[in-house]
Amino acid sequence: MRVSLSLRAARAFNDGCATALDSAELRTAIAKAQRASTTKRKLRQPKAERKAAKAEETSAIRDAVMARSRGRCECGCGQVLGQFGDGQLDHFWGRAKAPQSTQNCWMLAETCHRLKTLNKPSAESWLRDFIRHCERHSLLAEVVKARARLAFVLARKGEAP
Ligand SMILES: [Zn+2]
Repeated sequence: MRVSLSLRAARAFNDGCATALDSAELRTAIAKAQRASTTKRKLRQPKAERKAAKAEETSAIRDAVMARSRGRCECGCGQVLGQFGDGQLDHFWGRAKAPQSTQNCWMLAETCHRLKTLNKPSAESWLRDFIRHCERHSLLAEVVKARARLAFVLARKGEAP
């Protein structure tokens, strides 16, 4: 917890003579410290709880996305996903880049997931596959985002979309 004190207050604390502070200044500093500690405690769950909640969220998204896939790789290759875990949940934009949702996650066959992670054959081709997938399922916000990203990637290469 960090609380900023006035320079005079900080000096007084350092000198071990907080009594030198006028009482208004001291009250302000204490009130500030209390506000800071209670808001933080209210906002932040313990790490283990946050981790468990996240795992639960991912699991629910995986179930929903698997159901949407109807057992086929969602990249459009048509591969049938086996029953025993060879459908893999891919966070299209990456786990850290966008809050996970059924809109930005899709179910990929293990082989496709590996290629996508390596950006093979190219980032553009994966963006185009993702756009087609999102259009099939009317995930319009993702379509807009992916088209913008595609335009950016192509502009960087000096090509028109
Ligand atoms: Zn595929």
